Amino acid sequence: MPSPYSRLILVFFVLCLSTSCQSSNSNNDEYNAEIYSMDTIISLRVWGDNGNVSIQDCENFIYSIEDRFSTTRENSTIYRLNRSDDWISVSQEMADVLSFAITMTHQTQGAFNPSIYPLVTAWGFTLDQHIVPDSDTIDSLLPLIDIEAVHLDSEKNQVRLEENVQLDLGAIAKGYTADRVADLLRSNGHSSALISLGGNIYAVGKKVDGSLWNIGIKNPYGGGTVCSVYIEDKAVVTSGGYQRYFIEEGETYWHIIDPRTGYPAKAGLASVSIVSDSAMYGDVLSTALFVMGLEEATEYWRTHQDFEAILICDEGDVFITSGLLEQFAMVSTYTTGELKVIYP
Ligand code: AMP
Ligand code: MG
Repeated sequence: MPSPYSRLILVFFVLCLSTSCQSSNSNNDEYNAEIYSMDTIISLRVWGDNGNVSIQDCENFIYSIEDRFSTTRENSTIYRLNRSDDWISVSQEMADVLSFAITMTHQTQGAFNPSIYPLVTAWGFTLDQHIVPDSDTIDSLLPLIDIEAVHLDSEKNQVRLEENVQLDLGAIAKGYTADRVADLLRSNGHSSALISLGGNIYAVGKKVDGSLWNIGIKNPYGGGTVCSVYIEDKAVVTSGGYQRYFIEEGETYWHIIDPRTGYPAKAGLASVSIVSDSAMYGDVLSTALFVMGLEEATEYWRTHQDFEAILICDEGDVFITSGLLEQFAMVSTYTTGELKVIYP
């Protein structure tokens, strides 16, 4: 039999517990988690009621995306597509992402091309067993990098890849995921959250103190940041040679490949960051503009102008599109290059 004292202690304990739950459910509390998925460290920071439940929802969603989009998981949709030249049924979600990827391949004139997988594998980036392929190997793979060999039937949600053609959604999937995670958090009632998937950042609303999010752009030449962008309800997505690379005989080879040459894209840029409403759009464009180089990227922005960009050149100069001027600050300690503005 419990004594009256122990019953009193129990009641007191339960009261304390429920008070602490309540206070951690008040709107200004932060809930956060860090997980490893999609080959990268993912950090989720959520403010507002039931943030812990929302974080769990996000984690489950992210793991499920990895299960469907991975090139190496044996049951993923992409894995199955890459090993067949028959029509394969895909989800509405996969059909939508592929449809956007195909459109963007045309729009970027092939700088972004999700049929890049045979080359990604040849350079050993798929399993992190890096090698420099000989030029004959590259020449033999180039004809497979062909978006016309990727067939999507949007009525039936079926996809067919021609023989030996293979997909890699690595340059778009994290952006897509960031957008969906942001949607999920909004629909769970959160008006403030920060999502970071590798180089893909999405800021939901403003910070709880009402100020804009301050997103630092990494210095591609070492630690620290080069500049900050101030945003709300936007994505900042960065592609850079420094993110994944290997060095052989003094030469650096990175994971972003120019589909037109088959070699890592060396167009004079160290990193490209895109500021846009959609992280998926930003993800495609950061990869594409990195491949294009400064001149072609500038022309692309002037033609489209539905995003902003920060382009850091090999020599360290920082080019920003003029729409960022009001929401941008250089870091005073960055002295490697100068700030230059691209106008329409
Ligand atoms: P990101 O970090 O978004 O620039 O994407 C780079 C990843 O996308 C690489 O690790 C490859 O898996 C894949 N990739 C590399 N080059 C390209 C390209 N030109 N177009 C589309 N995907 C690419
Ligand atoms: Mg990308």
